[in-house]
Amino acid sequence: MVTGGSRGIGAAVTRAAHARGYAVCVAYSSDDAAADRLRSDLPGVVTVRADVADPASAVALFDAAEEAFGPVTALVNSAGVTGRLGRFVDASVATLRRVLEVNVLGTMLCAQEAVRRWEVRGTAGRIVNVSSTAATLGSPGEYVHYAAGKAAVETFTLGLAKEVAAQGIRVNGVAPGTVHTGIHAAAGDPGRPERVVARVPMGRIGEPEEIAAAVLWLLSDEASYVTGAVLRVGGGL
Ligand code: NAP
Repeated sequence: MVTGGSRGIGAAVTRAAHARGYAVCVAYSSDDAAADRLRSDLPGVVTVRADVADPASAVALFDAAEEAFGPVTALVNSAGVTGRLGRFVDASVATLRRVLEVNVLGTMLCAQEAVRRWEVRGTAGRIVNVSSTAATLGSPGEYVHYAAGKAAVETFTLGLAKEVAAQGIRVNGVAPGTVHTGIHAAAGDPGRPERVVARVPMGRIGEPEEIAAAVLWLLSDEASYVTGAVLRVGGGL
């Protein structure tokens, strides 16, 4: 299950997982055309339109995946939004609420549903939550509320990992730096990657495939002793 799997980093995760033989169910919120393109590019991938911030969505998503493929074995929480770039004092209550509900509550609800189902079946499972280097940089003048939410995602990753480790469930995170996706245009600044590239020690912006590689490694048996970790993939950021 890949939330936000229709575009950007999530779509790269979907493509990489599909190439490795995973049956992939993707959740997306509104862009039907992107979901259609993904399905025609990757035969067998199932897409479900659902808002992860809606408490009813997680059950519906896991039901849809189970109906298509059987029990979900791995969850990647990539669905995320930033709200418009700007100073924190100018952010509306609606923006604060939406960013926290999608990025934090949505991640928690999907993880909760996954763990509940694994516990009922007595099976192992793997979760990777997509955080951001913003969680430890703070993103002043851009989206402090988003950065704070990603810090919550990282603490949630650590705590849940410890809570379910003995059940064979691994929970990890990946914290990307700035990556070429549509999220910057959605934040109101399509040129943001070029604007911030000078801050990146490696001197370039990341590609979604470079984040997906880290996610797929954390899902794999090669990471069998890794849980509660957040892997920074930010070119040195
Ligand atoms: P993106 O290109 O804008 O794609 C976002 C994806 O999430 C889309 O598939 C979108 O579906 C889906 N989505 C958004 N809100 C949703 C909701 N409420 N319910 C279900 N699906 C929802 O973003 P991205 O850059 O790939 O970001 C993916 C993750 O990486 C996010 O968590 C983001 O915070 C994190 N991240 C990104 C960067 C970066 O520079 N790109 C850096 C650090 C961290 P629709 O298309 O249907 O809306």
